[in-house]
Amino acid sequence: MVDVLVIGAGPAGLSLVAALAEQGLAVQGLAPTPPAMPWSNTYGIWADELEDLGLTSFLSHRWKDCVVHVRGKTLPLHRDYGLLDRDRIQAHWLGQAEQGQVQWHQGKAMAIHRVGDLTQVTTETGTILSARLVIDATGHQSNLLQRSPHPQLAFQAAYGLVGRFSKPPIEPHQMVLMDYRDDHLSPEEQQTPPTFLYAMDLGDDLYFVEETSLAHHPAIAIATLEHRLYQRLHHRGVEVKEVHHIERCLFPMNLPLPDFSQPVVGFGGAASMVHPASGYMVGALLRRGPGLAQAVATSLKDSRLTSTQVAQTAWQALWPPARLRKHFLYLFGLENLMAFNAAQLNHFFEAFFQLETEAWSGFLADSLSLPELIQAMVGLFGRASNDVRWGLMRSVVDYGSLLGRSLLP
Ligand SMILES: Cc1cc2nc3c(=O)[nH]c(=O)nc-3n(C[C@H](O)[C@H](O)[C@H](O)COP(=O)(O)OP(=O)(O)OC[C@H]3O[C@@H](n4cnc5c(N)ncnc54)[C@H](O)[C@@H]3O)c2cc1C
Repeated sequence: MVDVLVIGAGPAGLSLVAALAEQGLAVQGLAPTPPAMPWSNTYGIWADELEDLGLTSFLSHRWKDCVVHVRGKTLPLHRDYGLLDRDRIQAHWLGQAEQGQVQWHQGKAMAIHRVGDLTQVTTETGTILSARLVIDATGHQSNLLQRSPHPQLAFQAAYGLVGRFSKPPIEPHQMVLMDYRDDHLSPEEQQTPPTFLYAMDLGDDLYFVEETSLAHHPAIAIATLEHRLYQRLHHRGVEVKEVHHIERCLFPMNLPLPDFSQPVVGFGGAASMVHPASGYMVGALLRRGPGLAQAVATSLKDSRLTSTQVAQTAWQALWPPARLRKHFLYLFGLENLMAFNAAQLNHFFEAFFQLETEAWSGFLADSLSLPELIQAMVGLFGRASNDVRWGLMRSVVDYGSLLGRSLLP
């Protein structure tokens, strides 16, 4: 009997298959393409997030010189940033899976049914796979999990390219987390939703430059971001000479949490694990996957539990009450960010990145306790300019229910 069937073989699915195999469980993986098919997204992560897990050897690039530009100011971040070596970490997880009892199936899951105490997945070719527990890791567009619809989904959107340029688009050896300067835009354009440049020197005269909309409802069009990227480069006297790779990015930042009583569990984008105020998720996968796998293994061994109870234990392990409370606080943060105009956003990030490094990095990595998080936000309020404070207070009125869900017992 198969213990767990994981649907999807992106970073969430593959890392979890590996973690479940390490627990000695019999696992099946289902994905439309072979699990060794290379991933196309560029995954950035703070180096200390990997240090804590002993995984820094999986960085392909590491920058010490990391900065944020806001109007009139450059803020050094004093924190190393890196790019994941996608191929190596993928091979590492596939290797871990091979050491255990893992069987891969190629196909697309179309429907999930309960039959007795088992869960069955039907693929588009009619194949039926059964397991005691099914985990949906099909990403942000998952339609296999039940959740309430969101009337106003906010999307992160970006258009980026890896290429060579007539001159360095950013300082050599540097990583620019955010460049919110907008002097290349007309006064009218400066009134439209702000976007920023995310960029890095990849060495060998190659740079990655990406124009990004942190979050907006509706999503900012990719064509608009592409136009903005070229506008920004042109303003700096930089021409694109060669394009090696193009990245188009679009995913929801506030996908509603799944229904935790359903017998199917989620992981990754499908389980709304993207940090709502930053869009990052890979660190969360690495931190939360092993604990989820352990909880699944422990509860599957308990013969008194039905598979629905096993699923509920797994949901609890992934989304315990303390993490849920922080999630609502991040959602409140997201609403603030979307309500700010360009000037407020510049002032906000100026204050945010001048907090103690532990405070802003803990906010982004979700590694602070709720009291620490509140302390960081109070510190931010104290440090922020009046226009930002005013915006934050207005959000308390407009989005107080999110604050209530994080602060009230
Ligand atoms: C362009 C881009 C760049 C990003 N950059 C970063 C970053 O730098 N750092 C960061 O932390 N986060 C980043 N993110 C956010 C997030 O980490 C990624 O979206 C991540 O890929 C999500 O992982 P996932 O495994 O949940 O979903 P996906 O990577 O989307 O993988 C889903 C998997 O499920 C499969 N699948 C889908 N439907 C089915 C089905 N019905 N049946 C079977 N299989 C199915 C797919 O084929 C795929 O294998 C980025 C997102 C995007 C889109």
